[in-house]
Amino acid sequence: MPRVTGEWHVVFGAGYSGISSMRHRQQQSRGIDRSLEKKPSAPTICGRISSCDWLPIPTDAGAQSLALLFQLDRSQWLSPEELRAAQVRQLQVLVGEAMRAIPVWKERLGAAGVREGLPLEGDLFTRIPVLTRPTVQQMGEALWNHRLGAAHGGVHRGQTSGSTGMPVRYLQTDVTRLFWRVFTLREHLWQGRDCSGKLSAIRSNVENGRSATWGAATEHVFHTGPGVSLNIREDVAVQLDWLVAEAPQYILTHPSNLRSLLRLAAARDVPLPGLLQVRTFGEMLPVETVDLCRQVWGVGVADVYSSEEVGNIAFQCEEGRYHVQAENVLLEIIDSAGNPLPPGRVGRVVITVLHNLAMPLIRYEIGDYAAFGEACLCGRGLPVLERIAGRQRNMLRLPDGTEHWPSFPEDRWAGIAPIRQLQVVQTAIDRVVLRAVVGRPLTPSEVDALRRIFAEVLCFPHEITVAEVDHIPRPPNAKFEDFVSELG
Ligand SMILES: [Zn+2]
Repeated sequence: MPRVTGEWHVVFGAGYSGISSMRHRQQQSRGIDRSLEKKPSAPTICGRISSCDWLPIPTDAGAQSLALLFQLDRSQWLSPEELRAAQVRQLQVLVGEAMRAIPVWKERLGAAGVREGLPLEGDLFTRIPVLTRPTVQQMGEALWNHRLGAAHGGVHRGQTSGSTGMPVRYLQTDVTRLFWRVFTLREHLWQGRDCSGKLSAIRSNVENGRSATWGAATEHVFHTGPGVSLNIREDVAVQLDWLVAEAPQYILTHPSNLRSLLRLAAARDVPLPGLLQVRTFGEMLPVETVDLCRQVWGVGVADVYSSEEVGNIAFQCEEGRYHVQAENVLLEIIDSAGNPLPPGRVGRVVITVLHNLAMPLIRYEIGDYAAFGEACLCGRGLPVLERIAGRQRNMLRLPDGTEHWPSFPEDRWAGIAPIRQLQVVQTAIDRVVLRAVVGRPLTPSEVDALRRIFAEVLCFPHEITVAEVDHIPRPPNAKFEDFVSELG
């Protein structure tokens, strides 16, 4: 039966049990007596009047975030049908604005049979053609709303720092930025984070530095501990030394960087005793990395599915399952012919961003593949993603026309040769190259063994070669891909 909440202590209470069990697991793994555990303090609201210590009165900005958070706290327990009905109401607003203000949308939507005021449920919505990334790149500013009302605040330009070098230019508004921050707060609450802890971020687009708080999302809302940041281009050994010196409670980074850190920490036996959880984003999170994190540092990993142009897409609940943030994104999964897919079937992810009226993204194909899952035990009505599979360029294609997302867990190949880092690249329909950063030159028998194992795990009975390289650079967006296809 769905839980009904609406009161802060219920939300916070759910969070504590989450963090408590997380600590319990961490301490169990280290044989620490749980009776010594100190319960984390509640996130306290930032007040603007010093004489109101209890109850604090937030600033206008803080109140705005908290009011939205209060609504999200309720909406997460709506039934799928209720959520869908609310989405359609907002969709109607979005589509109406797109038709009125943006000529290319008027034409595109009109051609699909959409008329102002016509209910957008069912067939009519799915008749709107899917908007691909190349189309967005090509249309550019023609997709921008130059007549947006002042209520949405400032309009801000951005562009994705893609792996492929072809950015998508997009617009944000003060409203979409507010949504980004508030959904981030929701994720903190879902994960029951102890906001008084130190947050360390290792990512791109940051300067090495420190601040008194966790940053924009919690600002004016919750008191937090300090935040420290390090650019992801620093060498992994430097990163690990930095983490030891900073002794954070939380780490934020990409899954591939976490994996490199964990391998080094395991090899050097470097614990992080104060750590409570790692948060990852920006890449697929392999289950092996989650397991490795438990083994090496004794803590769990919470993953976030997001994109620069769309915002937050899905978060993990306390059951570890991904819930679509349906109050801001209407997410569809369709097959190659455009038909909706049932739970369990992997297909193209198509997203409509419900609150970006500056640059409406209606049925936007983000380039990822995923599958819906069945309802979650947590009771939330927000749709579940069972699997986030990756992008088209992460698919291996075979000469017979079939394709799949390859999986090559380290335990299958790591013992064969001293490989520090590996990337598998499909360079032709019948050719795969294993780019390997190695500790010393590989022997012919090691190369043979690698080729045999990879032929098996990739299901690729064609030419596999090994290229020993000094370094595998990260692309401009710092996202590392284990497997890349160059077939286009
Ligand atoms: Zn759940």
